[in-house]
Amino acid sequence: MICPYCRSEVVDGINFCPKCGGDLKNAPVVAQPVEQQVQQAPQQYTQQQYQQPQQPNMQNVLPNNSLAVPSLVCGILSLFCCGSVILGVPAIICGVMGVQNAKSGKVNNQNIGMCYAGAIMGGIATGLFVINLIIALFQSFFY
Ligand SMILES: [Zn+2]
Repeated sequence: MICPYCRSEVVDGINFCPKCGGDLKNAPVVAQPVEQQVQQAPQQYTQQQYQQPQQPNMQNVLPNNSLAVPSLVCGILSLFCCGSVILGVPAIICGVMGVQNAKSGKVNNQNIGMCYAGAIMGGIATGLFVINLIIALFQSFFY
């Protein structure tokens, strides 16, 4: 986030700005209409200021789902490569956790489809492995 007092980049979630000591917890939120007013103002200093209000909006943007890609990659490899359960189980875990994180609002929903796909492919790969294992066990017993 951006400190509204000294306009320096500070870590999200902290109470006080490390640069100027300003109270960030009770900091005034820069509203959207202010941006437009500042943009229309002809003063020179507005050049720095009118870029500023775009950044507070980024506070509302949730981080990307970091589990989506691992889940999808593990899912694809487990199903179409030779990963089987070794990658199928992580694909399910990453996929399910990714979906839960997205639903609980920790990450954005952008890649939630990749989590579902990874979990499903990992599930199929694991299921196929279990079926093959059972068949192999039966064959070893009865033939
Ligand atoms: Zn500051």
